[in-house]
Amino acid sequence: MENTYLSSIDHKSSNKEEFYQKILDGLSIGFALCELLCDQNGTPTDYRFLKVNQAFEKQSTMDIQFIVGKTIKEIYPDIESSWIDKFGSVVLSKNPIQFIDYNHNTDKYYNVHASALAGNIFVLQFQDITTEKKSEENLKRSELQYKNIFNSMFEMFQVIELVYDQDGTAIDYKYLQVNPAFENLVNKKESELVGKRAKKIFGIVEDIWINAFDRVEKTGKSESFEEYGAELNKYYSVKAWRVEKGQVAITFKDITEQKLYEKELIKAKEAAEEMDRLKSNFLANMSHEIRTPMNGILGFSDLLKTQNLTGKEQQKYIQIIQKSGVRMLNIINNIIDVSKIESGLMEVDISESNVNHHVDYIYSFFQPEIENKGMQFSLRKSLPWSKANIKTDKEKLLAILTNLVKNAIKYSDEGEIELGYIVKADFLEFYVKDTGIGIDSDRLEAIFERFIQADISDKKAFQGAGLGLSISKAFVEILGGQLWVESKKGEGSVFYFTIPFDTATKEQIESVNENNPTAPAVDIDFPVKNLKVLIVEDDEVSILVLDYMVQKMSSNILYAKNGMEAIEVCRHHSDIDLIFMDINIPLQDGYTTTRQIRQFNQEVIIIAQTANRLTGDQEKAIEAGCNAYLAKPILKEELYSTIQFFFAKAK
Ligand code: ADP
Repeated sequence: MENTYLSSIDHKSSNKEEFYQKILDGLSIGFALCELLCDQNGTPTDYRFLKVNQAFEKQSTMDIQFIVGKTIKEIYPDIESSWIDKFGSVVLSKNPIQFIDYNHNTDKYYNVHASALAGNIFVLQFQDITTEKKSEENLKRSELQYKNIFNSMFEMFQVIELVYDQDGTAIDYKYLQVNPAFENLVNKKESELVGKRAKKIFGIVEDIWINAFDRVEKTGKSESFEEYGAELNKYYSVKAWRVEKGQVAITFKDITEQKLYEKELIKAKEAAEEMDRLKSNFLANMSHEIRTPMNGILGFSDLLKTQNLTGKEQQKYIQIIQKSGVRMLNIINNIIDVSKIESGLMEVDISESNVNHHVDYIYSFFQPEIENKGMQFSLRKSLPWSKANIKTDKEKLLAILTNLVKNAIKYSDEGEIELGYIVKADFLEFYVKDTGIGIDSDRLEAIFERFIQADISDKKAFQGAGLGLSISKAFVEILGGQLWVESKKGEGSVFYFTIPFDTATKEQIESVNENNPTAPAVDIDFPVKNLKVLIVEDDEVSILVLDYMVQKMSSNILYAKNGMEAIEVCRHHSDIDLIFMDINIPLQDGYTTTRQIRQFNQEVIIIAQTANRLTGDQEKAIEAGCNAYLAKPILKEELYSTIQFFFAKAK
């Protein structure tokens, strides 16, 4: 059979053969009849084409005439050996094979089917699948390219498939594809995410996300939005679009920082608006605060001009004028303090003084006012005089105490006010306790802010600008302590503050005090010896005020209206005890005048006075040779305690 077949091909060309050739040529599949060639050991080494059809000619891009009779190695000397091996095994085993392989000579992929006939003869069926193969490869390549893009994307990317319940409602989604940016965000590997449901991974997934993806899937319309994800406590900028049925692709960016920044900006804007509102409020308050006492002063001084006023009426009007003046002075001082604190110009003047002295002073100052209101005032001092010396800025300490006690009076109508201090390790803890209206718990922090009042509708609170506590707090902090409040609405408040009480100072002072245990108490109406006083002042009203105050301790008062006159008077009266030196005087200022007086008189006590509280007048005055400094308007108590200080010491 083998011979018959071969001889029919090799030697004859019959009509039948032509008939079969025609059939073969009509096939779209490439066809070849081949003979396997082996070496002496029977190992396949090559194969020869015996017959091919037209489809084969087309697929191999070679002429039939050229191919037939040639071996594959003659045609393609560097043909991949795999071709020969595969056909060798078909012939030897008689088992047909089918495979896809690439021939680099033709740059084509072939789907090959080989089956053995008799002897070394085998049949090849070829199909050129290069186009399909290439498009498949292209697809793979572009898929890879996309994957690379997604993988290198800074934004997070995922393809999800929605999960529905029986009613067709989206209840969750699972991950089909994720990129490394997303893996990093959730700190999980791709293998831990793909195929898993989001709810399983995060525990919870808010409906808002599922609904958004479901909407995109159903409508086919892409959506961009910003959303907060409680799962990781982050904000995202999201874009979602439908890729195919049930599937949605999503890119998202972590915008948490940007969002927080935006929130900060909004907060800052609101704070600025609030500040603006407070400032307008403040201005309205200021206007009210200044106009009210001005009204009192101008109105009642006008009334004083009325003829035939009784002495009682006059006294009443004068009292009102005085009260109004004090109130106005208070508000001006507050404004100046706030400006100083705000501009960082607030100076601290630390010196040694006795804390018992300060609380006694406050106590005796406010006692009449509190008792007049029908309330009680008590004082608790925890240190004996000999151990009550501290190193602090006494003016600030007094200002804080004054402010707290004033508030206690202002916001209480009955009961008791208690002032005191206790020693707490390295601090002195002061307290001012009242049984007044108290403060709502949600306002306990706000009242320490500038211009803030606990209850804006409270009529009593309206008599104030909301500056006192913020100034006191700033003072306490400058001194190294803290200020806080405990209060119950309707029951009363306790304001506490601390200032440092360092032991080194304590010990040092203790030894000094042991030698000199008595400390003076301020007595406002103390009698000093009959002093010889010079008032250097050009303003009539100021002269009148000083004159009135000094008359109590002096029947020998001299006057000078400018610096030159002052020096003249001093030269002629070497026995002057005390000079009140205004700084802003004509011809030459108070500093120069003092310096010149000091050249011939070291003994006289010179007290400088100025209306300007903002500049460093105090230091300048001391530097020029003044012994003390008083700010205008001069308060009787301040003036007397200063005089007492010098003359009680000197005499
Ligand atoms: P002002 O008293 O001028 O309004 P403060 O800064 O001294 O300003 O006080 C701020 C606010 O704190 C007050 O308006 C008041 O509402 C509240 N406050 C202060 N002290 C007391 C107090 N002893 N009892 C009740 N409320 C107080």
